[in-house]
Amino acid sequence: MKNGAAWANDSRSGEDHVARAAERIRQAGRVVAFTGAGISVESGIPPFRGETGVWRQVDPSFIEIGRFRGDPAGCWPSIRKVFYGPFGQARPNAAHLALARLEREGHLLAVITQNIDHLHQDAGSKDVVEFHGQAGRLRCLDCDQTVPADPGLLLETVPRCFCGGLRKPDFVFFGEPIPDAAAKRAFDLAERAEVMLVIGSSGEVMPAGQIPLVAARHGAYIIEINPEPSVFTRQVTDLFLQGPAGRVMAALAGKAAMRSRPPSEGATG
Ligand code: NAD
Ligand code: ZN
Repeated sequence: MKNGAAWANDSRSGEDHVARAAERIRQAGRVVAFTGAGISVESGIPPFRGETGVWRQVDPSFIEIGRFRGDPAGCWPSIRKVFYGPFGQARPNAAHLALARLEREGHLLAVITQNIDHLHQDAGSKDVVEFHGQAGRLRCLDCDQTVPADPGLLLETVPRCFCGGLRKPDFVFFGEPIPDAAAKRAFDLAERAEVMLVIGSSGEVMPAGQIPLVAARHGAYIIEINPEPSVFTRQVTDLFLQGPAGRVMAALAGKAAMRSRPPSEGATG
């Protein structure tokens, strides 16, 4: 745990810490959220790492770009199973909705997400930076044209573009660079954030894991929401709200929406 940081456990002191986080959010001009797989767990999408992670069941090499190019037909069934099974049916949960509410009410500038599930936009968030792209589109490796990842296309042995090129899901595979525009915008937001909400991210995936570190180095106050401590907790977190994203974020957005009582009101009781 970062020196001097506050650790809010679920019970007793938890409420006060949520109120404290809400106050920070209300007072700051530039609040940015950074989200990882954990925010979508309550929507039924498993994370990759950890006990219940997808990589315990499948070998992740099917989303290495070199292997995919060499053997697309061999990789495609696993891609379909992992990314178009639970992903396709998932709906936003209370945490996605809370972030959309914070933005709507003027408390949140943007969401930087590592997720590829589109649930922030489905919840109503307008300014979303998809650092790792998204699964909802397929992109041609030859001509770059994108098309929606419709069920018909997904059932093909290997989806092919009109130009004959290979289509892949429009998210970042192992061995591929982060899309330029997303990387630039994410680090720019991080450098200028006054408060960063870090929600459901282990901090182990690079370069995404640098984003909260850059924000902290430029003076941002880091509020982390996670049931478990992460790499960030020790390094940069100022206020740790321990718990599942849905419950904590719903409480936080509710409190941020409450207007501070003017002093005269307090005095007259
Ligand atoms: P990750 O870095 O995204 O870590 C998952 C984190 O979620 C862990 O710290 C865990 O403690 C936390 N968590 C678990 N349940 C939670 C809950 N209810 N509320 C809040 N936090 C919770 O790790 P990963 O899963 O290995 O992901 C690797 C990369 O792949 C990341 O970029 C991730 O965004 C992406 N990914 C995306 C999706 C998606 O789009 N939904 C799913 C899996 C992985
Ligand atoms: Zn093409």
